[in-house]
Amino acid sequence: ELHYTPLDLIDTKLEVSSKSFFDRQKKFANSPNIRKTDIEFRTKQLKKLYYAIKKHETRLIDAMLKDYNRAPQESMQLELIPLYNDILGMIKNLSKWAKPRRICDMSPTYMLGKTYVEKIALGSVLVIAPCNFPVLLSLTPVANAIAAGNSVILKPSEMTAATAREMQNLIEDAIFPHGLLQVVQGSITETTRLITSDKLNMIFYTGSPRVGSIVAQEAAKNLIPCVLELGGKSPAFLTEHFSVGSTSKLQTALKRLFFGAFSNSGQICVTPDYLVVHENIYDEVVKQAKIVLNEMYPIFDNNLDYTYLVGQRGYNAIMKKLDASNGQKYIPESAEGFVSNTDNGQYCIPPTIIFNCSWNDSLMEEENFGPVLPIYKYSNLDDTLDLIIHKNDQPLVQYIFSDSEQERQHILTRLRSGDCIIGDTIIHVAIKDTPFGGIGTSGYGNYGGVYGFNAFTHERTVFKQPYWMDSLLFMRYPPYTPTKQKL
Ligand code: NAD
Repeated sequence: ELHYTPLDLIDTKLEVSSKSFFDRQKKFANSPNIRKTDIEFRTKQLKKLYYAIKKHETRLIDAMLKDYNRAPQESMQLELIPLYNDILGMIKNLSKWAKPRRICDMSPTYMLGKTYVEKIALGSVLVIAPCNFPVLLSLTPVANAIAAGNSVILKPSEMTAATAREMQNLIEDAIFPHGLLQVVQGSITETTRLITSDKLNMIFYTGSPRVGSIVAQEAAKNLIPCVLELGGKSPAFLTEHFSVGSTSKLQTALKRLFFGAFSNSGQICVTPDYLVVHENIYDEVVKQAKIVLNEMYPIFDNNLDYTYLVGQRGYNAIMKKLDASNGQKYIPESAEGFVSNTDNGQYCIPPTIIFNCSWNDSLMEEENFGPVLPIYKYSNLDDTLDLIIHKNDQPLVQYIFSDSEQERQHILTRLRSGDCIIGDTIIHVAIKDTPFGGIGTSGYGNYGGVYGFNAFTHERTVFKQPYWMDSLLFMRYPPYTPTKQKL
């Protein structure tokens, strides 16, 4: 059951003095209060948000379980703990991040004045969230926006309707000042109304590249800046120089790859989308991959450690690709014979490895965004890099498993990507104070720690010039007499 609350309904629910929803946001963003109270005010709002999430923690986890059988451990480990850490980091560092930076330019024109660079809020911002991490990817940018002094509209994903409602409940529960943070529930119609408004000062969008392009085009009509956090096909490399002499090391590498590929049912923007393995180690990788997969999923049906696909659309898309794939499919033995009860809204696909996947396979076309890991066998690294670069030259991440520093640097130099992990997968997203974001078609802009604060602020140079300085600056004014020209 989807629950849409169109903008009009939200408008009438609010006790606003101004008629329009956007005016209300704008009014708040421009009110003198927020600037007067500044850091103290913002810290208080962040604390309110933090405690409201804590209070609603169990209900949020239950809502995600209801929406897509989200494994409670994954909700806690991949979603709520990083969110708490993000907000606590903002509370701790806000004064430091917001502090104006003093600049010393010793050239004559500026040396006796005072220069500083301050970070100012952008105003009224919109956060559009995706379905795969419905809480973290809604509330981290929302917290960043508040920390930076903006007013925020949150548009959660309609695909995870129970979670979206629970987030609205917790936000209402937190009792923020009117106009600081409002939630708009809905799908394309409501989002379109938001992104076509000329009243916003910034849009922070997380989702697919296709919709990201729509959002950016609409925003551009009103010159509204965007941050786009998109997805794509992130490759993983297990190269010729990865020594498979140690079985336990290879198994660890595979466990880490499967953790990235199958957590959240593969619905992670940074999921390793496919794995390329050198032909010399391919057979050993196949053998160990089967062992590791079975160890990781000893039971399958009714397994609370295994998340489902968020909705029918995503489920159908992967099933279609799997049917069309010519690779050899392998699922854990515990899942053999499993049939998903889609009539009851159970959109479940067992974790699936595809061996001997050809480069032209259906699973090698677009981002898979599901629990499938195609494995491609290669013989020449540079030829394979050419194929990857030709397909998608700037993925969100690349994962390299190689024992050779030279080879690792070679791959890194040839393939541009938003981020990279050597020897592990997906966990870089939570490293403190590092920028997370794409490049090229995987998006632009970034966030994470201070980068999140920066994403929602503008750096403004302020220069204060004493009037008495004109005794030194008189030569810049016309008339440009010969004496002035000589100086
Ligand atoms: P989506 O693009 O379908 O939806 C994202 C948001 O856009 C939703 O709130 C939705 O209501 C809205 N939307 C959908 N169609 C729209 C339209 N035509 N006009 C205006 N708004 C519209 O994405 P999704 O399926 O929820 O999420 C999956 C995608 O997001 C994947 O591509 C994944 O890689 C990407 N993603 C990226 C990141 C990142 O940080 N880079 C994180 C998570 C997900």
